[in-house]
Amino acid sequence: MKTCGPCTMCCKVLAVADLAKPVGKLCDHTKPGAGCTIYETRPHACRTFACVWLMDEEMPHRFRPDQTKVVLDQDAEGKWLIARCDPANPHAWRRNPMYAALKGRAEDTWGSGRIVLATAGRRTWLITPREDVDLGEVDLSAGLKVTERPDGSVAVETGGG
Ligand code: SF4
Ligand code: SF4
Repeated sequence: MKTCGPCTMCCKVLAVADLAKPVGKLCDHTKPGAGCTIYETRPHACRTFACVWLMDEEMPHRFRPDQTKVVLDQDAEGKWLIARCDPANPHAWRRNPMYAALKGRAEDTWGSGRIVLATAGRRTWLITPREDVDLGEVDLSAGLKVTERPDGSVAVETGGG
């Protein structure tokens, strides 16, 4: 079974509401290279989060988030995969092998209602097999509706559930 090892990327990249910790700021309880200093009492959101790299036994070491500067975050139903980048490396998702993996995922799932996104803070990109669409600053918690037009281009509405 995989372990996080020295990685603490999710403690920077993700927001933790219970700690009023914003996206992109390293948590005050993180000891770099050593993990969480309040491990036994860490908030529920921290207890329940596991990135895709940690859960996927097959995903190679080179995808570990402290190597890529990208935390792969997927919902339980697999409807969305978000490559959450360290805001200090906002284009980390564009680097291989991560970029090829994201494109491959987009090719496999496009048209099935499942989407692939990259974020750096609120800045968001939609990754499709054909293009990478810069959506600008988006509140993903408000929802995102993606539809493909007959000509193959995409229409994106925020707040669409
Ligand atoms: S990003 Fe993944 S591997 Fe890194 S600390 Fe979080 S859960 Fe562990
Ligand atoms: S409380 Fe611990 S696990 Fe949660 S973000 Fe802070 S350092 Fe990470």
